[in-house]
Amino acid sequence: MRKFLFWSAFMVKRCSVCNHPSRPEIDRGLVNGVPYRTLAGQFSLSASALCRHTKHLALDLEAQRRHEHRSYQAAVLDRLDLLNVRLDRLFNAATSDYRSPFVALGCIREAIRLLSLQERVRHGLDRTIP
Ligand SMILES: [Zn+2]
Repeated sequence: MRKFLFWSAFMVKRCSVCNHPSRPEIDRGLVNGVPYRTLAGQFSLSASALCRHTKHLALDLEAQRRHEHRSYQAAVLDRLDLLNVRLDRLFNAATSDYRSPFVALGCIREAIRLLSLQERVRHGLDRTIP
């Protein structure tokens, strides 16, 4: 793995497309299926350089997808933490101020469901994104 990362970084440094000032437009064209020859002519590159660059683009897109997925996961866990705080407040009020064992019992049930959901979000998303 380490050898691959070193090699990959080396190739990206030498890639004329990775270092091209119009790389965002080129990448957009590749993602949208614009033919290599069209892009090569438009940006003064060779079709073979564009072909080699698609591997770098795929790595970048995968890294971006992982980052977005982890951001989404963190946002969901933040929302669940907030719900946990609210549930805790309700439980405390039910056991002290209102002396309502039924509400307290409902809070415990919901806390168990919330805990299960948090674990599923943590581990379920981790399983799909290495
Ligand atoms: Zn490249």
